[in-house]
Amino acid sequence: MALVTEYFGSLAFDETAMQKYLPKETYDSLKKTIDEGRHLDIEIANVVAGAMKDWAISKGCTHFTHWFQPLTGVTAEKHDSFISPVGDGRVIMEFSGKELVRGESDASSFPSGGLRATFEARGYTAWDPTSYAFIKDKTLCIPTAFCSYGGEALDKKTPLLRSMEAIGVQALRILKLFDPDTDVACIRTSVGPEQEYFLVPKEMYDKRRDLIFTGRTLFGAKPPKGQELDDHYYGTIKPQVDAFMKELDEELWKLGILAKTEHNEAAPSQHELAPIYTQANIATDHNQLTMEIMQKVAKRHGLVCLLHEKPFASVSGSGKHNNWSITTNTGVNLLKPGKTPYDNAQFLLFLCAVIKAVDEYQDLLRISAATAGNDHRLGADEAPPAVISIFLGDELSAIIDALETNTHYDPMEKTQLQLGVDTLPPLPKDNTDRNRTSPFAFTGNKFEFRMVGASNSIGDCNTFLNTAVAESLRQFADILERQNDFKSALNDLIRETIKNHKRIIFNGNSYDDAWIKEATEERGLLNLKTTPDALGCFLDEKNVELFARHHVYTKTEMKSRYEITLGNYSKTIRIEAKVMIDMVYKEILPAITSYVKEVCEAGNAKKALGIPSVYEEKMAARLNKITCDIYDRVADLEAAMEGVSERKDKTIRAFYMKDEIIPRMNSLRSCCDEAEYLTAEKDWPYPTYASLLFGLQ
Ligand code: ADP
Ligand code: MG
Repeated sequence: MALVTEYFGSLAFDETAMQKYLPKETYDSLKKTIDEGRHLDIEIANVVAGAMKDWAISKGCTHFTHWFQPLTGVTAEKHDSFISPVGDGRVIMEFSGKELVRGESDASSFPSGGLRATFEARGYTAWDPTSYAFIKDKTLCIPTAFCSYGGEALDKKTPLLRSMEAIGVQALRILKLFDPDTDVACIRTSVGPEQEYFLVPKEMYDKRRDLIFTGRTLFGAKPPKGQELDDHYYGTIKPQVDAFMKELDEELWKLGILAKTEHNEAAPSQHELAPIYTQANIATDHNQLTMEIMQKVAKRHGLVCLLHEKPFASVSGSGKHNNWSITTNTGVNLLKPGKTPYDNAQFLLFLCAVIKAVDEYQDLLRISAATAGNDHRLGADEAPPAVISIFLGDELSAIIDALETNTHYDPMEKTQLQLGVDTLPPLPKDNTDRNRTSPFAFTGNKFEFRMVGASNSIGDCNTFLNTAVAESLRQFADILERQNDFKSALNDLIRETIKNHKRIIFNGNSYDDAWIKEATEERGLLNLKTTPDALGCFLDEKNVELFARHHVYTKTEMKSRYEITLGNYSKTIRIEAKVMIDMVYKEILPAITSYVKEVCEAGNAKKALGIPSVYEEKMAARLNKITCDIYDRVADLEAAMEGVSERKDKTIRAFYMKDEIIPRMNSLRSCCDEAEYLTAEKDWPYPTYASLLFGLQ
């Protein structure tokens, strides 16, 4: 078998391929574009396109596609072949700079949230040269951004790139204050997303319409054993899963994706994959690809990979931990406490920028993780609550406190921390990584945002985070650039910021009810429990201003996103309710009835022989009662569903789903699960939780 070092990145047009296929000057210009965001002109694009085509053809490709991330949350592609007729019935393989840089696409089938009404139906895709082109299914894929002809973003990537630019510009202003001669040319954010998922046997999956249509189980009695013994987390990996993981790694490595850690997660059949972090837009592309490839590879192993946030009630759901930091093109992580006093002052200023951003834009972070699926997970004692707070760890919190009050930060030594003079004590990483309940934790040299759902794109959370921090940095730079005495201004600024925003810092157990009470009642933090609640804040003036100021979203783009997100929420629940009704009428009620019939027949047979039939009578009566309840509840849900289409307004409809449909679905489910619990397994129409969760070899 080939060595990983040999095939790593073999399907990506990465540094190695570029160096091999591009003339030196072209390579140098392209590198400048990639590293420093410089403009690339069309002559160079022509050369790059030709080289990419030669490289792709040498790997057996005949087609190319602009690969993009519309607001559906999954990726899209439209394939074109390289062929170009040259007369006399012959063709040559061609790919021009124009085709590389810009593609046209009919935008009308992608969600645009009203943008289509005011703009042309056509959209265009624009090459993102910072993310390597790659080969998938013998097709050259060009990572692109997707916009309308009016320039409005129709995807998750355009705003992300804009937000990276925004934070880069503001962070550089700050660096220049600390060192006017800094050789940093460009600053970007880095992301390492840890991805959780479930694997279930395909043959069981195929028997469950709820899994097929909605990605989660809408019914299912609790299995006798769940995750209470904690025996799955980091446990031995089963051979079937191990084979899957090995192949997954290989596929990802070929694409140049830095898959690093694979392990079992808390729930049975739950696993996690973590890549090594990389630039935010690349990490986002890679995460989308990873999710796609996970599902493909699983099928080859007779498995189905579930990326839903809550595939099973009563066991942990799946999320994504978005590890985020700010990095310079010279390789410095600005969230890493430094070795010199000056570096530390700079670190603390960046830390304060994040604290301020998270406090002021709590709503946005919550919104970035708001989907119907994730609503089941947040606050369910397994994932962070819907309340946003920051975990800093004891050491860093003590430093922050000391800075705020200007007191001794080390009671043993009675020293006063002087910014720009003292170094910080080394922060033990262990100490900062213990707390797993915080939605937003500082873990030594990065922040880990733990709210995002497993199936979500990480585009939104990074866009929001980048922009919010860009805004803090902008305000800081505005203040500091005006001051003559930089050091004392810096001290004041840090102290003020801590004072104003320390309510967002919480080092305790975020799963605790007492915390939710304290957070909302004493600290005034937001508790946006569901997607419609959270989305209600999106178009607030402060958010519109934030995104407009940093050119990340126009108000029109925000409105379109608002509509799409709420629309998706209602659609998801509508589909789920319909599948439930379908399963109840077509599978569940007939199954119970036939089982009850069998029980009654057995009872009658006993009676005929003069044997008591107490069990049969009681069981039949019990199930009969449940059958009546199920019937009443499904009819009630059905009637409530009639009211959905009457509610045309997206916001009103979403609240109707939340307040009227979901509670009815829950109540229907509970009696169906009780029936499952009582009915013979052979008569139950779909595989049980036990066989789904413990069915792997
Ligand atoms: P864990 O959270 O399981 O303790 P790590 O902290 O080592 O594991 O890493 C988790 C994820 O964070 C990985 O994807 C890793 O690459 C990423 N990561 C590590 N350092 C950084 C950083 N400076 N910026 C962004 N992501 C990072
Ligand atoms: Mg982690």
